[in-house]
Amino acid sequence: ESSHLETIWTVHVEVRLSAKSKRRFDTIKSQVKGWLQSLECLSIPSDLHGWEQDPSLASCVERIAVAESPCPSSILPLSQISLNIHTYQPIESDSVDEYTNGNDSGEGEGVLAASVCELPSTSLEGLWDGLIYSDNIKLRLLDYIHATLILSDLNVDSNLVSWNRVVLLHGPPGTGKTSLCRALAQKLSIRMSHRYSQSRLLEINSHSLFSRWFSESGKLVQRLFNNINEMIEDEDCFVVVLIDEVESLTAARAGAMAGTEPSDGLRVVNALLTQLDKLRQKKNVLVMSTSNLAKAIDSAFVDRADIVQYVDLPPREAIYEILRSSICEFVDKKLIQEAVVPPLNEALFYEDTGNYAQQNDGSPVSTAPHTERVKLGRSLLTLSARCRELGLSGRALRRLPVLALARYIGLGVSSRNGILDNDSGNFHTDIYTW
Ligand code: ADP
Repeated sequence: ESSHLETIWTVHVEVRLSAKSKRRFDTIKSQVKGWLQSLECLSIPSDLHGWEQDPSLASCVERIAVAESPCPSSILPLSQISLNIHTYQPIESDSVDEYTNGNDSGEGEGVLAASVCELPSTSLEGLWDGLIYSDNIKLRLLDYIHATLILSDLNVDSNLVSWNRVVLLHGPPGTGKTSLCRALAQKLSIRMSHRYSQSRLLEINSHSLFSRWFSESGKLVQRLFNNINEMIEDEDCFVVVLIDEVESLTAARAGAMAGTEPSDGLRVVNALLTQLDKLRQKKNVLVMSTSNLAKAIDSAFVDRADIVQYVDLPPREAIYEILRSSICEFVDKKLIQEAVVPPLNEALFYEDTGNYAQQNDGSPVSTAPHTERVKLGRSLLTLSARCRELGLSGRALRRLPVLALARYIGLGVSSRNGILDNDSGNFHTDIYTW
């Protein structure tokens, strides 16, 4: 028992600064640390409040969030926590550069080969939290990548422990693979800001690379990697390279082998693999790739991936949380009446114990709002089970509330029953004409 009490858990706290803040990160960090130490315990994960009362913090901080952690309890006393505080100031999203790699004769001009985004970016804020999986996949990926970064920091001999810095996420479309790569890149940029003063996300557009100008693609790959190499020469800059739908690159090679594609395709894929191999030597780069068709990916590529993670369609529990977060957003934006949809654990409890939550003495809690809550939890669970049967992807689920709203409007339901029309009635017509 006592050894359990002595366990100290590392908990990451992320402090987002407002764009206008000019104060030094370390000053704010120690101030936040002081404030955190005035608390008794932390909810994990959670958005913290109360710091707004401190004028000095309120003037520069936008959000203080406790990140999810593998610790066994959702509330930990501060005495059992080792705080790891990260301050960051997201960069406005218009800092996206696009490489149009036209060839020398002007042919292929306008091909978008890649885009670059400075991290952490305002456009990626919230993405991580909005992605919901039921098997801790986000944390596991983060920890895994973290582990490898520690290895390379320690200069572990790559002949003894080898690591390619390539991650492959595969699974059905719409399961959040691309979003997860971006969200991970953002997370890493926040978590590693003490080591790298800059971070960038470079997204390679596989389709355009392999579209019409096959004979030129070899040069495109070369140019692209020249750019990447230039970036990572700066050892203070961490670069995440995202290759989306990587099967479109490697299918070309398979086609070439089968004789159905020009051998240029083969050359290009080989060029890509060679370039990826060269990146191995660099500490400050991570390659993330996604695929909807793992079978179609060149085995030479899969072989290079250290992590091959299957991302499945969401199970009922994850569906529940996805839908719940969408409904909460509707309530938050006052689109629907205030309603408390219980968190998953509570809904599962109602499911197990029949209709009503019980008081300590076993008698049912039957106050009206509570009954409402029970009903909502149960019907959302039923709906989630139905979505699971239909095999809906995360993308389809995020769209579902829009379709529901559209149908609701179609029924001509008045504002009194839910949808606000800001007294003028314009709201309905706006949506109709839109
Ligand atoms: P993929 O790359 O697997 O096709 P995307 O990353 O393009 O999927 O996902 C599209 C959108 O679908 C995401 O931005 C997100 O809104 C939603 N989505 C997909 N999977 C999930 C999930 N597990 N949790 C929450 N939202 C999801």
